[in-house]
Amino acid sequence: MNREAAWVKEYWLGVLAITLMMAMGCKSGGSTPETTAPAQPPFMSAVAGHAPATEDEAPPADKTGGFDGKRAYEQVVRQVSFGPRPAGSAALAQLASYLETELKSYGCVVETDSFSADTPAGRLPMKNILVKIPGQKPGIILLGTHYDTKKLDNFVGADDGASSTAVMLELARLLCAQKQPEKYAVWIAFFDGEEAVNKEWKDPDNRYGSRQMAARMATSGDLKNIKAFALADIVGGRKLVIARDTESTKWLVDLVWKTAAQLGYKEIFVDQESPVSDDHLSFLARGVPSVDIINDLNGPLSVYWHTPEDNLDKISPKNLAIVGYVVLESVKQLQQK
Ligand SMILES: [Zn+2]
Repeated sequence: MNREAAWVKEYWLGVLAITLMMAMGCKSGGSTPETTAPAQPPFMSAVAGHAPATEDEAPPADKTGGFDGKRAYEQVVRQVSFGPRPAGSAALAQLASYLETELKSYGCVVETDSFSADTPAGRLPMKNILVKIPGQKPGIILLGTHYDTKKLDNFVGADDGASSTAVMLELARLLCAQKQPEKYAVWIAFFDGEEAVNKEWKDPDNRYGSRQMAARMATSGDLKNIKAFALADIVGGRKLVIARDTESTKWLVDLVWKTAAQLGYKEIFVDQESPVSDDHLSFLARGVPSVDIINDLNGPLSVYWHTPEDNLDKISPKNLAIVGYVVLESVKQLQQK
């Protein structure tokens, strides 16, 4: 809600209050009645009236393989509007049901796994969401994101949580619409509980959702069919520097970085190296080739990472589109293998 709209609303509330007082014969009718505007959560100021700068506008979708950066940005706005979304919160449950509805509206086959996890804050309900796009042969290309946000006051995680989730939503929209199945299945995972409940990231207080999904896939036998797992996390920043994660599987990092270079994004997918602990570790631990596509935590991101400053004004629709395009083209490369 912008300033003008708030003023108009308060004015009419005032008029209504005076009218009611007069109708009730209130003795204090001569003085200005106090009107209390509804308390507005602080994150709403980040949602209201925000528009990305011109240089951050998304290119037309046909320039990025059909991936629509504007749509992805709108999905970031939508997620932020739910407010802080830590594991176990009502806001996260609302977002989960939004994601399910949205994915089904694209024609995706959606499976959910509700479970509970023991955390430093007690036992918390969590839910993983998995989209399954069938292929012709055994073999799965797994994509993933976490959709929870770090439990911090006024933290809405526009970049950390919402950006990669928006990219995966947009990829699902494109991939679920394909009429002919590709060689391999593409599964898209939306993990709950990536963030540590405590302030510090210390095992096992993190990656609750991805550990759950990897364990379940090991039991079902699907895990051995995963050709590659590409995780995206914190990919919407206006200043995006994606370094090569040294925990990730080298051939898969090479494939993604080569694809990015061919598309002309060498400035973003840089050659410097940096080790990252993230949801990919849950699959690496079980032998699945995995890559984490993540803004360098030591770069420009460090200014706002895990602070209330991680809000919409940090997000670039253009960079969402670039990452989406690189993942889309990398999936095509993996389909050739
Ligand atoms: Zn985080």
